[in-house]
Amino acid sequence: MGGSDGSPGARGAGEFFQRLKAYEGRPTGTVGVGKDPVNLPMIRHWCEAMGDANPAYDGPDAVAPPTMLQAWTMSGLSRHTDRSSAYDELSGLLDDAGYTSVVATDCEQEYLRPLRPGDEITFDAVIESVSERKTTKLGTGHFVTTRMDIRANEEPAGTHRFRILKYAPARRPPKGERPRPVINRDNAGFWAGVADHRLLIQRCGGCGTLRFPWLPGCNGCGSAQWDAVESCGVGTVFSYVVMHHPPFPAFDPPYAVALIELAEGVRIVSNVVGVPCDEVRIGMPVRLEFLRVDGELELPVFAPVQGVAGGVG
Ligand code: ZN
Repeated sequence: MGGSDGSPGARGAGEFFQRLKAYEGRPTGTVGVGKDPVNLPMIRHWCEAMGDANPAYDGPDAVAPPTMLQAWTMSGLSRHTDRSSAYDELSGLLDDAGYTSVVATDCEQEYLRPLRPGDEITFDAVIESVSERKTTKLGTGHFVTTRMDIRANEEPAGTHRFRILKYAPARRPPKGERPRPVINRDNAGFWAGVADHRLLIQRCGGCGTLRFPWLPGCNGCGSAQWDAVESCGVGTVFSYVVMHHPPFPAFDPPYAVALIELAEGVRIVSNVVGVPCDEVRIGMPVRLEFLRVDGELELPVFAPVQGVAGGVG
């Protein structure tokens, strides 16, 4: 019955799917109560974190940013006491079938009425759907969608849907092999550049802002148009940590993980090589190199500029 990866074989798959489907519609808790009413301090913190200066979110007639919807339902460290076991059971079933990895895939919100300071929040959540077995680039598994209905002073205020994929990874690196980058349509250009020994930075087609890491759109102007420019490969160590623990099979501690500020102004997380890690310093001038990790994998790394190693700081 079982597949070689621990997932159910073809004969068991239909029965297994029916067991998963039986969780659809089951609540993940009893009616939840927001830990705080909608309030201006939380709105202000959110707006500062998001860099959102919209005047609608401030002053005596303030409303909450619609995308804060889920924030009013969050349990904090003390958690809600009203969780049901349904979601944990469903997760356990998927784990036992070999779908042990999880990735959050997307979230959808629907807004039915503005939220204002003083509104008291209640909500309930159900497992809305479990998909058939799907094969994705990450691996094969099932999408699980949870729907939360949120009320303000007992009136419907909005709906929040949250979807995860529970999956069996398509390819685990052999023990001791450096993890592979996940290459997708948003970052494929970057990795194509690495293959040519070029470090490419995205440039917004709308406002010209350079950005790194690669993203589908511009945080500044919202444009989805872009081209790429090649970094000159010169930079400085903006910040760093030296990794000692925990040990990972593919890595040989201690090693320096650094945030490199490139001459173009953007920053990239990489390794500093070619120098003992206790000599890495903030402000150290570094230059791009390409490190061949194994037969398939090359990575951009940074080495101190000749003659400067150890002389900074
Ligand atoms: Zn832009």
